Amino acid sequence: MKKITIAIDGYSSCGKSTMAKALAKEIGYIYIDSGAMYRAVTLYCLDSGLIDKEGNINKLRLETCMPDVRITFKLNPQTGYPDTYLNGVNVESRIRTMEVSSHVSPVAALPFVREAMVAAQQAMGRAKGIVMDGRDIGTTVFPDAELKVFVTATAQIRARRRYDELQAKGENASLAEILENVKQRDYIDLHREVSPLRQAADAILLDNSEMNIPQQSAWLLDRFHEAAAE
Ligand code: C5P
Repeated sequence: MKKITIAIDGYSSCGKSTMAKALAKEIGYIYIDSGAMYRAVTLYCLDSGLIDKEGNINKLRLETCMPDVRITFKLNPQTGYPDTYLNGVNVESRIRTMEVSSHVSPVAALPFVREAMVAAQQAMGRAKGIVMDGRDIGTTVFPDAELKVFVTATAQIRARRRYDELQAKGENASLAEILENVKQRDYIDLHREVSPLRQAADAILLDNSEMNIPQQSAWLLDRFHEAAAE
């Protein structure tokens, strides 16, 4: 069967990664979490002192440092999913903290950061057979993707899902704090100048507020079979 490109976009914490990962595993495609790449750049900024206490980013220095920010993915045999590496170091758990979540959207709004990440993402998808999730995959990274899905759910439900995820990892954050972060990221992602979060005209909309994970996965697998058969 010919390999296709699958783009899954949508709002923060709406389960995109969960469904994208499960689909990739099921159909033997590569899975790339583009949000992890923006998170890794943000972690680089935090570790290098490029973000001050007020949250201001030292853009000039970051732009100079961008060629030194190398983000790669390596399959974790324990989870069966790729882990994110920043300059050769596994940062998979460090990029998921609230500290990174609270700084990532302003970093991801910087045009030179997007340019570097989009180029890397397009290179990873050149051979097709890829599932990538993010905010601009169907609109900017792979505008010709054969299957595009745009996922949404209410902010309250998304915050609750993120809360449960962080609790399971033992990270303490209040539901109110997470809801605020989800809303703030939505706002920045929707209003930035370069590649704002938008549903591509040819994307299928999925509101998964009332769906559980197996239901979403089954829905996505059906869409894949339809797209791959065309
Ligand atoms: O998907 P995740 O929530 O981990 O992404 C973290 C942040 O990275 C998002 O809130 C968004 O600001 C940014 N992002 C982006 N474009 C993508 C993926 C993520 O701007 N393709």
